[in-house]
Amino acid sequence: MQLRLFDTLTKTKRPFVPIDPANVRMYVCGPTVYDFAHIGNARPAIVFDVLFRLLRHVYGAEHVTYVRNITDVDDKINARAARDYPGLPLNEAIRKVTEETERQFHADVDALGCLRPTIEPRATEHIPEMRAIIDRLIADGHAYVEQDHVLFAVASMPAYGRLARRSLDEMLAGARVDVAPYKRDAMDFVLWKPSKPGEPAWPSPAGIAVEGRPGWHLECSAMAWKHLGEEFDIHGGGIDLVFPHHENEIAQSCCAFHRDHMARTWMHNGFLQVEGEKMSKSLGNFVTIRDLLATTAFGSSKWHGSVLRLAMLMTHYRQPIDWTVERLIEVRRFLPDWIGAASGVPPHPDVPPEVIEALADDLNTPGVVAVLHALNREAKGGVREAAGKLHAALRCLGVWNGEKPDEIGSYGVDVSDAPSEQEIKHYIAARTAARAQKNWAESDRIRDELAQMGIVLKDGKDASGQPVTTWEPAR
Ligand code: AMP
Ligand code: ZN
Repeated sequence: MQLRLFDTLTKTKRPFVPIDPANVRMYVCGPTVYDFAHIGNARPAIVFDVLFRLLRHVYGAEHVTYVRNITDVDDKINARAARDYPGLPLNEAIRKVTEETERQFHADVDALGCLRPTIEPRATEHIPEMRAIIDRLIADGHAYVEQDHVLFAVASMPAYGRLARRSLDEMLAGARVDVAPYKRDAMDFVLWKPSKPGEPAWPSPAGIAVEGRPGWHLECSAMAWKHLGEEFDIHGGGIDLVFPHHENEIAQSCCAFHRDHMARTWMHNGFLQVEGEKMSKSLGNFVTIRDLLATTAFGSSKWHGSVLRLAMLMTHYRQPIDWTVERLIEVRRFLPDWIGAASGVPPHPDVPPEVIEALADDLNTPGVVAVLHALNREAKGGVREAAGKLHAALRCLGVWNGEKPDEIGSYGVDVSDAPSEQEIKHYIAARTAARAQKNWAESDRIRDELAQMGIVLKDGKDASGQPVTTWEPAR
């Protein structure tokens, strides 16, 4: 079995060969801790957790180091702290915001079945490494000091733009780069900047008299260096991070350490949108992980974390995902069915090779789902070995931790809460889709679920004779 991964830098799917098979090293950009993580943030957490599990399977659990950082110094954190705790000194308020958000993030991703990374470094604990990188860059003419800022001189690095595959002119035209009086070149980016009074501040490098704080890109270069070395195997994150964040990480690390590569493989997950629209607070379709775990979009039932995880993995990680309630309803139907088939049979000692092969093909999780459906059919046909294989595969994928099928299927359905009109429409659409596939069991299940919530469905025909389903509250 040869692991193959798609590398954003070369735009090719290539055999993965670790620098040191005894210590396979991966860095993934983690959350900026100022607000609840949304379901888009869950995507890299889940995708790179699957890769972490696969690497552990292939190289041995002791031979993989996964680093996912916590960004705990950022303007957004400062703004949130000032807003939420106006009575507290800013630094105390910041600590409250970052600690609470970090705790919630862990609760969320734990519930999604993600293993904790080997190391979760905090940016604020790596200021010495950041200063050391700045010193090296200045010494080699890759960075300069201007008006108490330290800037990276993009023109000093001919290979700049290699990851994003853009020329300097294109990057200038396409990116929202800040033009600032302290920049020699508009593309230059901040490595260190002065702090405003009351903000988090550390002694500045390069003889700058006023205290300051690091730029975001520098934080990741410093944490990756500290925990994984000058060059490591895999660097990951969402596709939005390619430019400027990862381009700038490469510039800093390659110039500071005189290397051609920061990471050998760059991996990026596609974006997630909700019900066909970009997720944003202004559109009102901003979905936090916490909300999904606590209350569905229907306002009446909870989704089990495994349902959310599997729904995410039904799409290949590089494709965009359209996150829909229909998808969740579908997974809530078939995952308990799989678990039912796998329960009562001990796990097969080996994860099925078809599953590992699909994962080894650039994390082909939709392929894995197809294998599991096939195993489920065999298991239900009485093939005991298939049930054992299904059991092993569900555990390996992190979508089953021993729950009973019911715990996942009817997770927390709360009959006291009436669903909204919008939610009922989703149910009806899911039922219409089931009926179109002649899936009468699912159609009846949805009808019953709505009945439990006090909603009665009526199937009829509209004026032009087309079948139509209407609803009314039960009397
Ligand atoms: P942030 O806290 O915004 O820096 O994001 C943390 C991680 O979530 C990064 O790897 C982002 O690329 C990723 N991310 C943010 N929004 C989405 C989205 N809508 N879909 C997929 N990934 C996302
Ligand atoms: Zn990063």
